[in-house]
Amino acid sequence: MYKELTKKLNASGTQLIAVSKTQSNKTILKLYQQGHKDFGENKVQELTEKHESLPKDIKWHFIGHLQTNKVKYIAPFIHLIHSADSAKILKEINKQAAKVNRIIPCLLQFKIAAEDTKYGFTIEEVIELLTSERFQEWKNIQIAGVMGMATYTENQQQVRSEFKQLVAYFNQLKKDFFPETTHFKEISMGMSGDYDIAQVEGSTLVRIGILLFGARVYT
Ligand SMILES: *Cc1c(COP(=O)(O)O)cnc(C)c1O
Repeated sequence: MYKELTKKLNASGTQLIAVSKTQSNKTILKLYQQGHKDFGENKVQELTEKHESLPKDIKWHFIGHLQTNKVKYIAPFIHLIHSADSAKILKEINKQAAKVNRIIPCLLQFKIAAEDTKYGFTIEEVIELLTSERFQEWKNIQIAGVMGMATYTENQQQVRSEFKQLVAYFNQLKKDFFPETTHFKEISMGMSGDYDIAQVEGSTLVRIGILLFGARVYT
């Protein structure tokens, strides 16, 4: 699956993040040995354990809801935080990044799904944040783009329109806040069930687990 998937994604320059949550080190290493370096996790403890025991050139992506009291554990090494979903968490990421002398790239997670269980900003909240004085003071984070999860539904039209909405937010923010910056460039959208729609709609990063590794076993 890996070869076919990367070939398909390469056609549009879309990057694969292999979502390795619940998967063993052995399973991760199998993909790593094929040359894959970008892996995504959604739990801080599981991520730090894997970071400690696996090769240090793996680029770890954090994709789950992040609690403020846990940021310090991942700040020294995290490659990209996809799921920055509040001003409070961005403030803490900035603080912990400063302590370890890093600038941590973050994506702004938008709530694009109809389900109300999903975390994320509204566009109004993001505009308020980006125009605020305190945001200008956060020198140890770098806003690298946007992220969103579509509704879990068979309705492809709905999924497509939610992805289109996220791309519209990206374009608006790019134009109004990041016109000159090359680092505001990522649109993280698409999972096993909807990555093909996301790819067509302009995703730059897809986060795929089940399709690569098979069903997750929770213990
Ligand atoms: C688990 C997860 C994924 C991957 O989902 P699959 O259905 O396994 O492809 C992608 N994004 C987030 C935020 C996740 O938690």
